[in-house]
Amino acid sequence: MLEGLVQDFQLTLPYILRRAEQLYGHREIVTRRPDKSFHRHTYADFVSRTKKLAVALGNLGLESGDRVGTLGWNTYQHLEAYFGVPSSGLVLHTLNPRLHEDDLDYIANHAEDKVMLVDESLVPVFEKIRGRTGVEHAVVVTEGGDVPDGMVSYEDLIGDADEADFEYPDFDEKQAAAMCYTSGTTGRPKGALYSHRSMVLHSMMAAMGNTFALSEADCVLPVVPMFHVNAWGLPFASVLVGAKLMMPGPNLDPASVLEDLEQEEVTLTAGVPTVFLAVLQALDAEPERYDLSKLRAMVIGGSAAPKGVIRDYKERHGIEIVHAWGMTEMSPIGTVANLTTEMKKLPKEEQLEYDAKQGYPVPFVEIRARGDEGFVPWDGETMGELEVRGPWVASSYYEAPEGDDKFTDDGWFKTGDVVTIDRFGFIQITDRSKDLIKSGGEWISSVELENALMAHPAVSQACVIAIPHEKWDERPLAAIVLMEGESVTGDELHVHLEEDFASFWLPDAYEFVEAIPMTATGKFQKLKLREQFEGYTSPKS
Ligand code: AMP
Repeated sequence: MLEGLVQDFQLTLPYILRRAEQLYGHREIVTRRPDKSFHRHTYADFVSRTKKLAVALGNLGLESGDRVGTLGWNTYQHLEAYFGVPSSGLVLHTLNPRLHEDDLDYIANHAEDKVMLVDESLVPVFEKIRGRTGVEHAVVVTEGGDVPDGMVSYEDLIGDADEADFEYPDFDEKQAAAMCYTSGTTGRPKGALYSHRSMVLHSMMAAMGNTFALSEADCVLPVVPMFHVNAWGLPFASVLVGAKLMMPGPNLDPASVLEDLEQEEVTLTAGVPTVFLAVLQALDAEPERYDLSKLRAMVIGGSAAPKGVIRDYKERHGIEIVHAWGMTEMSPIGTVANLTTEMKKLPKEEQLEYDAKQGYPVPFVEIRARGDEGFVPWDGETMGELEVRGPWVASSYYEAPEGDDKFTDDGWFKTGDVVTIDRFGFIQITDRSKDLIKSGGEWISSVELENALMAHPAVSQACVIAIPHEKWDERPLAAIVLMEGESVTGDELHVHLEEDFASFWLPDAYEFVEAIPMTATGKFQKLKLREQFEGYTSPKS
């Protein structure tokens, strides 16, 4: 082999930080505080504070690769952690505060988080698990609020550090930089561990024209939380190109989102369907109120973007929806529904069909779908389980060999999503082979609910399926077969579940049935049960 004569430059996140320092000091980062007031500063401030954080973390005596957990909303301090943690050789581990405490406890212990950066509003969540974790340094992120016992204030932590002590490190690009746990699999949550290289490449891909076309001139509002797969990589990609950032904090109500979009002249925003459905309803109620003329793209992903929503945004408000699909195990972006020139020649109705599919793979993500008889043709009809590979796709889970069966012998990742692939390479998700329900962008395990329900003395069998819900997309319905001679009400079962599950997990409906359809091998035939409940919408809609 004749080797090319190019430099062996390592793709690491500190170079993105240095670029921001050298070129984009003038750009703004805006955060909406819980009281709705605005915090504003520049990239220059951001870089300076991030360096201090890296120095302060370096002074804690941790070892390279140790995990630093975060419990936080989309804020400027969280952005500092996004860069400061990996730039000090540590691994950023974002935790989802909406999870049940048992899951959070499990995740913090499995990752062996040594430091936890906790937004002051989430201290009660942290307090529930704190005693059960190995966290050595608990830091409360506050702008002058109370510092609970046993915690130090974030401002004190970085205030004591000297920015001049920061040296841009030369890491190997394979070094781990961040991790996220997914509940999008059966069994315990599992960790995806990203490298500096995978995150740099993912950022470059996210900024590309056929992905989100990001540039310095953009203002990006990540509605998707920073604890959902790194807000889909948008904070990293935005800093890479020097885009202005509008961080919404915990304020995801439609009025706040609309005010942020208008006032800060946001050009691109991204989130799950639930939030943008509520925003659409608010816009419909007062169509003249907001000037969103600067907004060029609203990225919807995490769950399927409904066709009607895509059409209504476009026709009623002139807003383009970009439908995207991805997974925690994919950093997360896999496919984006940007129509090609060829597709744009199709009749409008047909274009809408494609807008509502999940799109075609971004560069360096390769796809194939495996059916009963091998890989399916790209005919838009034959269904198979989607498999993917690429430079930001997980090669295995972090210390969880029980997840090894998600990876094929030839190195592809099995997504658990059942899809068709059409002649344009567009995928459409038709089903999920994993036994999960996605409600407002958060996972609910039907298997765990079934096990808990079947532990009730009056229940013989319980099968939980997803039913459509206008706001939350999917909600759980529990079909129950009673033990002979026993009786129990839905309300009683609800109380029975309440203690062990986060409240959003609890089924919207309990239906008592004679029998649950079974497969020949004695498994619940959920497809049949779903057919039985077709047209049934959540009574809590
Ligand atoms: P997570 O790892 O929590 O980001 O969840 C990934 C899963 O969410 C995928 O495997 C899909 O089942 C689902 N998902 C993500 N994006 C979409 C989308 N645009 N349409 C339908 N399902 C989606």
